[in-house]
Amino acid sequence: MSINGIFPKTDAGGNPIHPDRAAWLKGGNHKCQMPPRQPGGKVWRIVLLGAPGVGKGTQADMLCERLGTCHLSTGDVFRFAKSCHGADLSPVMAGALECMKRGDLVPDGTVLDLIGERLRCLNCSGGFLLDGFPRTAAQAKALEKLLESQDLRLSAVFDYELPIDQTVARLSGRRTCAGCNAVYHVASRPPRVAGICDHCGGKLFQREDDRPESVKVRMEAYQKSTRPLIDFYQQRGLLVTIAADGSPEEIYKRTRQLALEG
Ligand code: AMP
Repeated sequence: MSINGIFPKTDAGGNPIHPDRAAWLKGGNHKCQMPPRQPGGKVWRIVLLGAPGVGKGTQADMLCERLGTCHLSTGDVFRFAKSCHGADLSPVMAGALECMKRGDLVPDGTVLDLIGERLRCLNCSGGFLLDGFPRTAAQAKALEKLLESQDLRLSAVFDYELPIDQTVARLSGRRTCAGCNAVYHVASRPPRVAGICDHCGGKLFQREDDRPESVKVRMEAYQKSTRPLIDFYQQRGLLVTIAADGSPEEIYKRTRQLALEG
């Protein structure tokens, strides 16, 4: 199974033109066919915070392009497991995907095992950009310990903020390409032909967890479990708060000005 369904950047011959994240998506002893390029300057180790739908994934792609870091999304690991293993999932992974479908958080123990199997990615010489992890206080504390044990330090935590009604509108209009995972929005970023991906001609679908009943659960989980991490990282002097309204390019420009330049 190709990993391009999760990380789509390939040339016409299907060769990756971007880090393929095999070590992250597959875990264990898997190596990246195409690791991130070595950054010329500072190595960034960043955590992205923000409610589901706020646009973290899009910002992550833009930031990785510029900083040479790898996009480490825990949600992508679960989606990859689902697309690869289908009916052969381990009971733990099957349980995790059930949580995901409902919009609930996967138990901390499962997530931390998954991170433990991917410690090499935290040590990657290109740095990293964590998206979707940590999501609870227990995960944040565990990450802090893990990084300490590896003698690594976070560079910054970017918290993307958007009013909740706008976040829900972004999530419920989001459509994803089944072929290359490109992301569209029915109103603000529609494809040229409805339901069809501009890049690869794949069919667009709505993620199970973007349906209204799951969106509500995800928002509640964010408010209850993830929002407290803002204080956690503020106390450590790592937090950068970024308004997430406007186009992806506008948000990216703000991120650069607030966190990367100067
Ligand atoms: P995301 O793509 O980050 O929105 O993640 C999709 C779903 O995967 C979430 O709604 C959760 O069910 C699950 N998930 C991803 N990362 C975590 C995490 N760090 N802790 C708990 N559940 C997670």
